[in-house]
Amino acid sequence: MLELNGLTRRYGSNLAVADVDLKVEMGAFVGVIGRSGAGKSTLLRMINRLSAPSAGTIRFDGRDVGALKGAALRAWRADCAMIFQQFNLIGRLDVLTNVLMGRLSHASAMRSLLRLWSDVDRAIAFVALEQFDIAHLASERAENLSGGQQQRVAIARALVQEPQIILADEPIASLDPRNTRVVMDALGAINRRYGITVLCNLHSLDLARSYCDRLVGMAAGRVVFDGAPRDLTDDV
Ligand code: ADP
Ligand code: ADP
Repeated sequence: MLELNGLTRRYGSNLAVADVDLKVEMGAFVGVIGRSGAGKSTLLRMINRLSAPSAGTIRFDGRDVGALKGAALRAWRADCAMIFQQFNLIGRLDVLTNVLMGRLSHASAMRSLLRLWSDVDRAIAFVALEQFDIAHLASERAENLSGGQQQRVAIARALVQEPQIILADEPIASLDPRNTRVVMDALGAINRRYGITVLCNLHSLDLARSYCDRLVGMAAGRVVFDGAPRDLTDDV
């Protein structure tokens, strides 16, 4: 269980996230919805410690995530994989190597330094590419792929990291409608097949309604709705 209590982030006098309390059961597919500037991205970034809270706590299975340091912090970051709107692949490297980057947290220090992947790592990366129908692109440079293909590479990279949680920050914001479905289907498949918890920032309500079990609505940094998609009326 992921538990946020009084989570707050200020930028000067601007409250990006204001006193958010949230409990997320493992295995859920949670959509975080709201307009641009509502605080969705800041919320996700605080969960994996990319951004520091001004106040409040984040607990995971009772442990204080805010207190983690060194190896424990790296392990936590490996436990919650991020997916970004702009994919964040290494464009000049091939697709397989990009996916193998997700295995870094599982390699010994010397192995990761030298990027010596084991055969097991390669097999795992390859299977992940096959799952998302991009194995035939394994040796292409990532920058030569379409947006939808690149985001599937990013999802494969997240999967091979063996996270407990996937934090997806507007993963479809730069994709066309067809690729939007392909990418949301990939996130849905990960959630159902492996029970990986997904927290996904979206601003399309229709999309959130069709893919998520639970919606958290944010406005001006606050949670203004938390419930099943069917309980969300259009005026929230
Ligand atoms: P969303 O993801 O819902 O679009 P954000 O979390 O990106 O919202 O932003 C929430 C608020 O915090 C906005 O008012 C935004 O301008 C502000 N903000 C976000 N990041 C920064 C930053 N690095 N410096 C200053 N203000 C920021
Ligand atoms: P962080 O949470 O680590 O501070 P964000 O991801 O929220 O960073 O912001 C990304 C970038 O966007 C930041 O480098 C920040 O400079 C910029 N940014 C976003 N919103 C604002 C804002 N309202 N004022 C100034 N910079 C902003």
